[in-house]
Amino acid sequence: MSDLQYTFPLQNRVSPDNAFNTMGYEAKKINTVDNTMNLEKEIKVIGTQIFEESQKASKIFKKNFFADFLMSWAMKREDIKVDMFRFVDVLPTLMTKSQIVDHMREYFLADDKDFPLALQSGLKIALSNTLTSNITAATVKQNVKAMANAFITGENSIKARKKLEELWDEGYCFTVDILGEAVVSEKEAKEYQGRYLELVNGLSDHVKTWQKKPVLEENSLGSIPRANVSVKPSSLYSQIDTLAFKKSVDGIKNALRPILEAAVSQGVFINLDMEQNDYREITLAVIEELFSEPQFASYPYLGLVIQAYLKDSIKDLERIIALSASRKNAPLTVRLVKGAYWDFEVILARQRDWPIPVFTHKPETDANYEKCTRLLLDAYPHIIGAFASHNIRSISHIMAYAQHIDLDKKDIEIQTLYGMGNNFKKPIIDMGYRVREYAPVGEMLPGMAYLVRRLLENTSNEGFLKQSMVDLKDIDDLLRNPNELVK
Ligand SMILES: Cc1cc2nc3c(=O)[nH]c(=O)nc-3n(C[C@H](O)[C@H](O)[C@H](O)COP(=O)(O)OP(=O)(O)OC[C@H]3O[C@@H](n4cnc5c(N)ncnc54)[C@H](O)[C@@H]3O)c2cc1C
Repeated sequence: MSDLQYTFPLQNRVSPDNAFNTMGYEAKKINTVDNTMNLEKEIKVIGTQIFEESQKASKIFKKNFFADFLMSWAMKREDIKVDMFRFVDVLPTLMTKSQIVDHMREYFLADDKDFPLALQSGLKIALSNTLTSNITAATVKQNVKAMANAFITGENSIKARKKLEELWDEGYCFTVDILGEAVVSEKEAKEYQGRYLELVNGLSDHVKTWQKKPVLEENSLGSIPRANVSVKPSSLYSQIDTLAFKKSVDGIKNALRPILEAAVSQGVFINLDMEQNDYREITLAVIEELFSEPQFASYPYLGLVIQAYLKDSIKDLERIIALSASRKNAPLTVRLVKGAYWDFEVILARQRDWPIPVFTHKPETDANYEKCTRLLLDAYPHIIGAFASHNIRSISHIMAYAQHIDLDKKDIEIQTLYGMGNNFKKPIIDMGYRVREYAPVGEMLPGMAYLVRRLLENTSNEGFLKQSMVDLKDIDDLLRNPNELVK
């Protein structure tokens, strides 16, 4: 091992000699188990248990008139949603009350806006004179801030620490993310690098005194760090460009290397988040090259993300399993997500007249998520699976399949977003699983893109959260095998 130390018991580690053929392995397992009655039955049992123990319709935004107004209209009218979320996006940049009022008029009351009459009349009264306009502007800004706070743990890492400790005491572990992405200058990129370094160094000290929680900090391979940080590649290098592939890969690697070095010396887990498809090959190359450098090749606390909405995801997952299996007793952790940039990918591909890289029928994504789940779980201990989803069908499938192949609960992890799907997290913890909350830290302005993504997710007609909590769809429908719905 390198001179950078960490304490990870190696006695149970996977032997590097245990060579692994991912292609053959996947085909065998998926074909024998996929769609068997027993697995489906078990999924229904687990899913029903989670549903029954969740309290229905817990509110995300409490006592927030603008959030109620925004969410209810966004769910009813797709066209209005776009204007509303654009307004939320622009709000933090508006400095004065009169700017806010002007923008509200522009976004909601302009002649070309087809807003319902009752809504426009109410807004017209609220914005009719200086006094009411000022009150409306101040309330709206305050309410949007409260909305952002529902998803953000603190303006900075010092302020977030209290919330992180509360999460730990409630039985959750966490991964901290610094809000902000796609930096536009190297000065800005350097600032982000500095913030990540501060976070890695500060957090590891801070968590030392916390109460011991075996479920959160141990798996069959050894200990799991309490401090866990998620990094967005686009926040570290401002010149990412697919046409300058090597330069982009090197730029991210150079900025990320000191962060990984600090993580190794402090024993902190680092996860590299996955962003839009344009950055995928670059990010995978960073992972393959940087994670294989001698000082990181045997570090067991590194992770990455695979997005199951991508048609190429199985191929990428096989590539990563092969990489992980070749590491020295240090499997990578893969966070399996469906993907947060679905609308963006579809619109961009259409604009460019390129093939659409994502599935366009929601059950296809759900079915592929399950396929990736099985591939990932079958590959344990060559790789560790962390499953990020708020969809109870997807989660029940993970649990049922893991049971089916006799994988211990402690060797998988369920990951959730801070502030989302709060009603079903506790039942999962009570079932004995480790739940890790993705905990963003940062100010309103860089946080708006994140907030808008969460609003889109909460109000999406296709989304599981709306279907289960707002539309109150039948549990059997919600737990249906997505393969039955694939056209
Ligand atoms: C801890 C954590 C970390 C995350 N990190 C990342 C990350 O690094 N990168 C990233 O991209 N995302 C990330 N996400 C976001 C994640 O991708 C979304 O939260 C997730 O897609 C929502 O899926 P679900 O299973 O919760 O909900 P569901 O409602 O079951 O699925 C919604 C998803 O289905 C897909 N979808 C929607 N409509 C269609 C359609 N018409 N056709 C095909 N597919 C469709 C989209 O991916 C959409 O997000 C993270 C989420 C969590 C919880």
